Amino acid sequence: MENQTARFVSALLVFIGFCATSVAAGTVDPAKVVIIKADDFRVPSPAWIAFLKASREEGVKVGLGAIVTSIAGKDSTARWMQEQQALGDVEFWNHGWDHTRWTTNGTEVSEFKGSGLAYMRQHLTDSQAGLNSASGKDVTAFGTGYNGFDTNTAAVINATPALRLFFARNVSTVRNLLDSRVAVVKIIGESDGTGKPSAAKFETEFPPGTPGPIAIQLHPANSSFDAARLDEYRKILQYLRTNGYSILLPAEYVETLSATSAATR
Ligand SMILES: [Zn+2]
Repeated sequence: MENQTARFVSALLVFIGFCATSVAAGTVDPAKVVIIKADDFRVPSPAWIAFLKASREEGVKVGLGAIVTSIAGKDSTARWMQEQQALGDVEFWNHGWDHTRWTTNGTEVSEFKGSGLAYMRQHLTDSQAGLNSASGKDVTAFGTGYNGFDTNTAAVINATPALRLFFARNVSTVRNLLDSRVAVVKIIGESDGTGKPSAAKFETEFPPGTPGPIAIQLHPANSSFDAARLDEYRKILQYLRTNGYSILLPAEYVETLSATSAATR
């Protein structure tokens, strides 16, 4: 009898958990969603540890964009990444293979802009495989170095079924070229330049009630991202919370969209 009761209680708890998850995913308004897009993760340095500590103190989940050539084959980095993920508040997204940029005949070319279809296909395949292996998960979100994008970038993303979210500077151009399977989230960069977020300028650029979803781009490992800038980041988080925005991981946002479309189907 006691066994039966225990079984019933545990089944009930599973059911309640299931309902709570569905409700949470279904009730988030996409217009109120913000994703923290922290770029250029290569190694678990003190700067990254300080960034995660501050984010956790603010109760915020963060997406870290990995440059995969730097983490591929590094067992200690992979272990650290999986430890962070296991806490439930960190997601690693694909920030490309090597983040390179060069000039050809006076034109700037980067890993995912102007480098050609075959080059991009190789770099996307290698980076997805390397990051899946390091994180032990199927990576679903992608953002390119220097936010490069052209028709070939669209083609390689569309040909990679695992990808469900792309971070974009110009949402309308990207939206027109990507399959509907891939959510497109608009990037808002650091107001004072790379590694230099400013809370006051962010509030001017993104006044209360401005519709999301947006991704706030940061560079926590950049030397400009000092204690004062970390404080600016905290102020931005507090401002978003005060104004009713939900800060989600990329995969959580995609799940929200699936739940919304399932509910209206
Ligand atoms: Zn980058």
